[in-house]
Amino acid sequence: MPVVLGLEGSANKVGAGLVRDGQVLSNPRATYVTAPGQGPGMGAPLATVAAVARTLAQLWGRPLLGVNHCVGHIEMGRLVCGARDPLVLYVSGGNTQVIAFSRRRYRILGETLDVAVGNCLDRFARGLQISNDPSPGYNIEQLAKKGTKLLELPYVVKGLDVSFSGLLSHIEAVAPQLLASGEATVEDLCFSLQETVFAMLVEVTERAAAQCRSPEVLLVGGVGCNERLQEMLGTMCSARGIRLCATDERFCVDNGAMIAQAGWEMLRSGQVTDIARSGVTQRYRTDEVEVTWRD
Ligand code: MG
Repeated sequence: MPVVLGLEGSANKVGAGLVRDGQVLSNPRATYVTAPGQGPGMGAPLATVAAVARTLAQLWGRPLLGVNHCVGHIEMGRLVCGARDPLVLYVSGGNTQVIAFSRRRYRILGETLDVAVGNCLDRFARGLQISNDPSPGYNIEQLAKKGTKLLELPYVVKGLDVSFSGLLSHIEAVAPQLLASGEATVEDLCFSLQETVFAMLVEVTERAAAQCRSPEVLLVGGVGCNERLQEMLGTMCSARGIRLCATDERFCVDNGAMIAQAGWEMLRSGQVTDIARSGVTQRYRTDEVEVTWRD
């Protein structure tokens, strides 16, 4: 099989990865770090990197492969962890989904009903002017380690779905008063926010794992490199005798190799994209892809 070049540019990052036969040959990434309080946006980076991909495909006379970003995360996690048929918890700035493979699709069993968990964390960080360097989520994680007070926050789980927008509105509304009065510190707020949203994620993952009788849970997406989330999921998994498959920021956070790996699987099973019909969309759901490379 040939080497596949994966190009990723869906938000504030640009990545280029090379994969051949399940081996990551190269995977550099650059992150655009905005000043506190500013957001990066998504449409322009997507269109730009897609233009680069089309140009290179024509310049080099190579097939173009339009890769679903969510499927890229799943295939990278499966490769790195050697997970065969895991239940997937996919948590990032744009997505929050519990996914299981069935009949040639990655089926979404549960998901956020409004904003993604990463978006909830990012917007909270923006409101409190927490630094975006290296990422707002990383800084919340470090601050949370110093939190001592667990504040009660809205906890919204409906079956296998979760909702974060009410929690976000609530914490944004009460934070100024709590901080001004000294009732809570920024560290307490970060701690409480993380504990609450991660408990919601662990609850729905446990419920889905029980229903699917999954032997493995795979954690992917940018929020997946949070060590507190890994610890909480790990506690649930070990109580159930499930293997937890998690990776670090090299493969959890958006990167080129994950696009290359999903592209490699597509190419292997005969999928290519007609350049004239290629495009980008922010609404390309995980379950729209026919997974032709798995039985
Ligand atoms: Mg992503």
